[in-house]
Amino acid sequence: AFDVLIVGGGPAGAAAAIYSARKGIRTGIVAERFGGQVMDTMGIENFISVKETQGPKLVAALEEHVKQYDVDIMNLQRAAKLVPGDMTEVQLENGASLKAKTVILATGARWREMNVPGEQAFRGKGVAYCPHCDGPLFKGKRVAVIGGGNSGVEAAIDLAGIVAHVTLLEFADTLRADAVLQKKLYSLPNVTVIKSAQTTEVTGTDKVNGLMYKDRSTDEVKRIELEGIFVQIGLLPNTDFMKGAIELSRFGEVIVDAKGQTSVPGIFAAGDCTTVPYKQIIIAMGEGSKAALSAFDHLIRSSVE
Ligand code: FAD
Repeated sequence: AFDVLIVGGGPAGAAAAIYSARKGIRTGIVAERFGGQVMDTMGIENFISVKETQGPKLVAALEEHVKQYDVDIMNLQRAAKLVPGDMTEVQLENGASLKAKTVILATGARWREMNVPGEQAFRGKGVAYCPHCDGPLFKGKRVAVIGGGNSGVEAAIDLAGIVAHVTLLEFADTLRADAVLQKKLYSLPNVTVIKSAQTTEVTGTDKVNGLMYKDRSTDEVKRIELEGIFVQIGLLPNTDFMKGAIELSRFGEVIVDAKGQTSVPGIFAAGDCTTVPYKQIIIAMGEGSKAALSAFDHLIRSSVE
């Protein structure tokens, strides 16, 4: 059995593995795809102390760092069930079962996509999901934000300070964001809000040059010329297999306290799959390190064998 079993091999999981292994305890990491979302990221400019890097390059460095230590890496394995108990059990999709004294859940999240023509083709070429990451790339340009919930309106306010113009498109006939955010949004001179708008296509040549949307009140199809599209229609945590075993928020995020402890003692969580706000690489790494230190603390306080 493992002292610490980490589920997920993104920045949170990799950090947790390094911190655990450095305590000299038996550490394993099981990941569907080592590197996680970072594998899908091209330019990274906010990983502090590294001016500019690319996702696959950062993942290679992460892997090299983890491999410096005695960590049992089980890549390309998907966890299917979490069973709390004296020893926590993680059942894999391939039928195997892993047991551990402590478990750190670091399974990350994925952005909800619009599923319209052009979205995939122009991903990273004008279609973006993270304003903190990619906002500065659109300095002085025209962008759209898709989604009028809190994250969409926050993104629009954030981007309005950087780009030339923001068009916010909301599918419903009202914005769902908090009133205070809406008030701020409507006070900005370079923001247009279009409600009852269903995005139907992303257009472009080598990069995005516009989007098509249907005005749902008239069924008329319209076009907006722009250079960037930020999709803000939800972040889906990869926590389905944990349902029933530990407490999740109404958004499906693992509820953790300040130490990364979940509702079940001995089970910790870190990174994008948790309730910790602001989903970023550097934050996921910090949270993963913290969860590992908490797991170690739990181990030294548990009954001595
Ligand atoms: P993830 O990176 O999502 O890793 C999750 C891990 O868990 C993966 O290994 C996955 O395979 C594994 N996993 C999931 N489910 C299971 C399961 N059932 N069983 C086993 N393993 C499982 N952040 C920045 O700071 N700067 C940026 O510039 C930036 N750009 C981004 C660009 C894009 C396109 C995207 C998508 C994200 C970007 N982010 C950026 C966000 C950043 O990538 C995430 O915040 C960060 O990767 C979260 O780390 P994590 O370890 O919590 O989760």
